[in-house]
Parts: sequence; structure tokens; C-alpha cells
Amino acid sequence: MTSLLRAGSMRRVIVFEGDGIGPEIVRAARRCVDAALVRSSSRPIEWLEQSNVGLGLKGLNESHLALFDQHRLLFKGPLTVPSGSGGNVELRGRRFTSANQVFRKAFNLYANMRPSRSYEGVDSPFRGVDWLVVRENTEDVYTGEEKLVRPPGGDEASEYVEAIKRNSRKASRLVARRATEFALANGRRRLTVLHKANVCKLGDGLWLAETTATARDVVRAHRGPAAPLTIDDQLADSMLFNAVLRPQQYDVLLCPNLIGDFVSDFAAGIVGSLGLCPSANLGTDYALFEPAHGSAPDIAGQGRANPISMVLCGTLMLREIGEDAAAAALDRAVARTIAARNVTPDLKGKRTTDECAQAIIDNLA
Ligand code: NAD
Repeated sequence: MTSLLRAGSMRRVIVFEGDGIGPEIVRAARRCVDAALVRSSSRPIEWLEQSNVGLGLKGLNESHLALFDQHRLLFKGPLTVPSGSGGNVELRGRRFTSANQVFRKAFNLYANMRPSRSYEGVDSPFRGVDWLVVRENTEDVYTGEEKLVRPPGGDEASEYVEAIKRNSRKASRLVARRATEFALANGRRRLTVLHKANVCKLGDGLWLAETTATARDVVRAHRGPAAPLTIDDQLADSMLFNAVLRPQQYDVLLCPNLIGDFVSDFAAGIVGSLGLCPSANLGTDYALFEPAHGSAPDIAGQGRANPISMVLCGTLMLREIGEDAAAAALDRAVARTIAARNVTPDLKGKRTTDECAQAIIDNLA
């Protein structure tokens, strides 16, 4: 738990509206968050809008990093990331390929949290799913350290690529602590560590040993009320097989970076839509919230964008700053709105973005 953020002293939130549908869904989500805070008689958030950040990284500069350093909370719409090398940026003497990478790496946002749950009113073959995928966000094969090697005297056909897969004790312990504390604080019953330690014996072996030991230590040291939390582990391929047969058996899934990338989108499919899945990128006293989907340029400006992932980013943010009552009220309002099918066309509804947001606000009452 980030004590500085939860202490409630950080009330200023930086906003990047982003590209495509970003401005529509961010504005809708802000209205919902503001209304939830009013309803729970809490202090409002002061939104620090940064209108000059968009199209991948355009406009992002040192002053935005300094602002994040100061205020520590960023509410971010999706950014369009140009294909190829077009979106690269140099900041703080380092080269980054996406805005997410800039913040993840510069501020060590080591935990990516992606809740995915079933909603009444959404078409899906599965019911009663409530997963939290916690993905290590900074290392594994995502360090970007790759090189093309040509053996001495070899030709083009003999070339190969070497890539670094880094799994450190420190990062494994950090993310395991965060996931376990969250699981205990939120009454979760099971935390499953995913891995491929049967093949990647050293890297995933270290990940498995460090995360399970840390999770057990956190459970042992826990004071205060909590439901019993079972810590176990599974090979990722076997878990996915079991999840398609009976997804309800899983709860919190703690994943190294690459496996987490696959499992978090798989989770969105299981619950029926990426449009229902928010994400939080958390470091020690820093938090960045963004939807799981992209900037959807094909429907931008048409009022058809589903604001729900962005609204649920708002509930994650409210919990992170200690506004649990407002977060719970907003979660309930979203569920009621979906059940009544006051949703956008992607969820087979007939509402516009703003009408959907208004229905959520009305359901807060
Ligand atoms: P996308 O998620 O933007 O769109 C995929 C499909 O889903 C499209 O048909 C779109 O209309 C629909 N869709 C997505 N979100 C929706 C919503 N809220 N409501 C209704 N329909 C929605 O994925 P893409 O087309 O592959 O990517 C578009 C751009 O977004 C790319 O430049 C990509 O790099 C970027 N992207 C950014 C982020 C981020 O900023 N975190 C994440 C993913 C993709």
C-alpha cells in the first residue's frame, strides 16, 4: 500500500487526455469521479490538465516528469503510438519508445494491476469471474536489451538475436509484496504465482522462489482482519488451460512481465471486453492510471466510445488515495449501469459516451 498516497495528502492529479477517443472518455470519467467524491462528502480532486501531450509522445517533456515527481498521480487517456521508430523520445539521457515506458522506467512503476470481472448485462460465456492480474512491469524480456549477432566469419543466414531476460530478486519481492498486501486488504482468497520455471529454470525459478517466499512472509506478518489467503503457483500454460474450463477458480494472478502481458488481455476476453478493464501502474508513492484499450481512432469524435474502463481507472485511483467509500460507490454504479444496458454500442447498448457517464452518475444516488 502506498502510504503517502493513501494518507490523502496528494489531491492533485495530472491529466493527459491522450489521442483518439481519449478526450471523450477522460472527461466522462472525471465527471464520474467528481460525482462519487461529492456523494461521499469527500474533498474534491484538483485536476491538472496537460493539453499539449498527445500523438504518442508529442509534447511530453521534462516538465511533465517534474510534475509527476511532485504530484505522483497521473490519469492518462490512451495515446496513439506511431509504428516503427517514429515515437521514440530522449528524456533524462535515456531513449524511450512509448509514454508508458517513460513513466514506468523513470519512476520505477513496478506493479501493473489489471482487474477483470464479470458484469451482469455483458455477453460472455463465463459468469462470476473476478480476477486481479498483477504484472511485474519493469523487467523480464521487456528490458528492450536485444542485439543482432553475426558469428565471426558467418554470413547473413548465420545471424541470430540475443535478448536479455532479467528477473531480479529485488523486483520480484517488490511486486509480490504489493500484490499480497492488496489481496489481504481486499479480502481476496487465493494468490497464484504464474511462471515457466520448468523451462526457464534460473530466471523463472528465481521469480517463483522470491515471490512465493515474500507472499508467505507478508501473510505471516499481517496484523488485522483478513480472510485466509492461499498462496500457490502454477505453470502459465496449465493455468490458461484450466482457466478456459473454469475461470472462477482463480483470483489474484501474480505474473512476470511477459506472461502478465498475455494473461491480462486473456482476462479481458474472459469477461467479455477490453472496454471493462482499467489498469494501474504503481511504484512506491507514484501511480499512473490508464485504460487497457488503445485510442480507437476509428470511432474518435463520434460519441460512441465506451467510457467504462476509464471510469474504473477512477475507482482504482480513488482506492489508491484512500477514498474507499467513493470507490465502492462508483464500482456499484458502474455495475448497475451495465446491468440496465445503459452502455455504448460496443457492449450492444444504444447510449453515447456522455449518456453512459450520466447513467453512472445517476446510479451513484
Ligand atoms: P484499440 O484498443 O484502440 O482499438 C481496437 C478496437 O476496439 C477498435 O475497433 C476500437 O474502435 C475498439 N475500442 C477500443 N476502445 C474502445 C472503447 N473505449 N469504446 C468502444 N470501442 C473501443 O487498439 P488499436 O486499434 O490496436 O490501437 C489504436 C492505437 O492505440 C495505436 O496507436 C496503439 O498503439 C494505441 N494504444 C495505446 C495504448 C495506451 O496508450 N496505453 C494501449 C493500446 C494501444
